[in-house]
Amino acid sequence: MDRDKNGRFIKGHSLGVRFQKGCISWMKGKHPSKEVIEKIRQANLGSKHSEETKRKIGLAHKGFKHSVESKLKISKARKGIKFTDRHIENLSKSHIGKQLSETTKQKQSEALKGSKSYLWRGGVTEANGYVLLLRERGYVLEHRIVMEEFLGRELTKYEVVHHINFDKKDNRIENLMLFATQSEHMKFHNNKVRGKLIDESCLLHNNI
Ligand SMILES: [Zn+2]
Repeated sequence: MDRDKNGRFIKGHSLGVRFQKGCISWMKGKHPSKEVIEKIRQANLGSKHSEETKRKIGLAHKGFKHSVESKLKISKARKGIKFTDRHIENLSKSHIGKQLSETTKQKQSEALKGSKSYLWRGGVTEANGYVLLLRERGYVLEHRIVMEEFLGRELTKYEVVHHINFDKKDNRIENLMLFATQSEHMKFHNNKVRGKLIDESCLLHNNI
């Protein structure tokens, strides 16, 4: 220990502890003061792990998994933290040229399914010009749902819902007409709408 002539420790010298990489176990469970954190930061400035150290760290962490409790704590601690530009750049670099495994791909697509997708539009989509709504049984035609709700019962697979003004997206109940079968529906088209402009696709009236 270096002391001055009065026997006191020389400030900034004897206490100038050099923080060595890997020598932080004494801190386990303790929260270092801001001063200490700053010292560590200074000591580590510019220092990079050697390939050998990286390998050792990788080995030490192999098979290590955070407990659910730890994960919660980590995500709580990370909340509101924004990545720096450098970090984002590094993240994007680290993904370059990497092939995702099939399981990872599957996991990612599972995670993005349905309401979690950034493409989520409230479960409304379109097919052949008809509006589809997402229900528990899958996508269903909106005009059939409107009719079902109006009738207070489910439609049979034979029943056909016709759009009076031929606008397949106009699913107001007053624009909808119910036929017991497709042949009834065809009869209507042939008899009542003959000579008038008929939207060809109306004749198909998908039954989903
Ligand atoms: Zn029709």
